[in-house]
Amino acid sequence: MEKYQALGLVGEGSYGVVTKCRNKDSGQIVAVKKFLESEDDAMVKKMALREIKLLKQLRHENLVNLLEVCKKKKRWYLVFEFVDHTVLDDLEAFPNGLDYSRVRKYLFQIIRGIAFCHSHNIIHRDIKPENILVSQSGVVKLCDFGFARTLEASGEAYTDYVATRWYRAPELLVGDIKYGKAVDVWAIGCLVTEMLTGEPLFPGDSDIDQLYHITKCLGNLIPRHKELFYKNPLFAGVRLPEVKDIEPLDRRYPKLSAAVLDLAKKCLQIDPGKRPSCVELLQCDFFNKDGFAERFAQELKLKIQKDARDNQLQKKSKISKKDKDDCSGEERKMLAIQDFNIDPKSRDAKLFKVKCPKADAEKAERSSNLSSLYGSAINPFKIGPQTSLKDSSSSLDYAKNAGIVIPPIIQNLSATTASMRMNAGMGPVPGNHNYRFLMKKQSFRQIRKNGNSPRQMCVCQN
Ligand code: ADP
Ligand code: MG
Repeated sequence: MEKYQALGLVGEGSYGVVTKCRNKDSGQIVAVKKFLESEDDAMVKKMALREIKLLKQLRHENLVNLLEVCKKKKRWYLVFEFVDHTVLDDLEAFPNGLDYSRVRKYLFQIIRGIAFCHSHNIIHRDIKPENILVSQSGVVKLCDFGFARTLEASGEAYTDYVATRWYRAPELLVGDIKYGKAVDVWAIGCLVTEMLTGEPLFPGDSDIDQLYHITKCLGNLIPRHKELFYKNPLFAGVRLPEVKDIEPLDRRYPKLSAAVLDLAKKCLQIDPGKRPSCVELLQCDFFNKDGFAERFAQELKLKIQKDARDNQLQKKSKISKKDKDDCSGEERKMLAIQDFNIDPKSRDAKLFKVKCPKADAEKAERSSNLSSLYGSAINPFKIGPQTSLKDSSSSLDYAKNAGIVIPPIIQNLSATTASMRMNAGMGPVPGNHNYRFLMKKQSFRQIRKNGNSPRQMCVCQN
């Protein structure tokens, strides 16, 4: 890893830290993912090895490109092509949602990437805005295959649930151990409306609250899922919300076009067996009604070529003046000693010491790149004050919810229902003004980190 010079932190997940680096020999800018030490080292190792194995098999223009794998002092380092920003960055820049044309282009590529994985019998299992990278020219690349896995022959059981709660399909929430590609299709459904409105579709703050959000919008669970719910010891004493009057997608989002709602509804079939495949999704009106798919396929080719050219140029102009100017003299001195051959502890200490200014510099850099994509009038990284939400690990959630009877769902949630939900630790009501206010006050990233860290909840055995 000596050949990489660290330039700054770009991402922190629950299991890894991603640093932007420059290859000192070629000048290529890369993203190095280092798997963190954890209490459960065997699990981190398993995730790293899984990501390596799958990414080596999966080469596609809409999937992140793994360049190299290194192991140093028992730690795994994955070296990826560096990709400009994530869909989460876009959503933070545009809290009211992204424009239709951009969403269509992103979604087309997201589904293409997932379709490719599915065609190799691999499910991603953690599709969400922070795992979707976007290059400067707008090429989408799915990343984070730490939870991805190969489908077994039919009938095999999988880990009972995975994936970030907000994007988690009902079958995962109730603990079904027979699930498949349809879990990724569900996540696509959640993404569509979130990208267009800026509002997460089902922002549950516990697993039972997640089911509440889902059933409120889509109706009751299928009998198999109800049965699994009541058999699941984690839900002992908890009653499933019975829906009397739902608030369907069309009513919740009257401004969304028929083609969008059609796509979202197809993905969000409560019965996984009824969800279409990704190939079928690409045939939807949303992508085809005005010849978009054909037109965009050509445009995408050019974008990919442009990215490849830029990458080559970047390698040629090894150490550009711009990069040198990116940080102050003091930071430069510190960064210069962040090579990966230094004792990890001291390197980490240094990396985190410069993390704040460098992370800001990174954000500013990404921001300028975003500005060039969207126009310069806005500051995409201006975010509101960040209040920390309660930590809700799985066991706490369940303990917290044990014995709670979920109030029946009525069409107009009254203030009383809202306060009941708050008192029961279920979080505010979607659509409620306070809810929007609370959500906007915090960066989604922060909410995801503090209140919805799915990985704390993950049982990762397979
Ligand atoms: P984790 O498993 O810890 O979530 P990810 O692979 O999702 O790890 O990476 C964490 C974050 O790092 C991503 O959300 C993204 O912001 C950033 N990141 C990951 N890969 C790249 C890349 N190739 N280029 C640029 N940024 C990346
Ligand atoms: Mg991730």
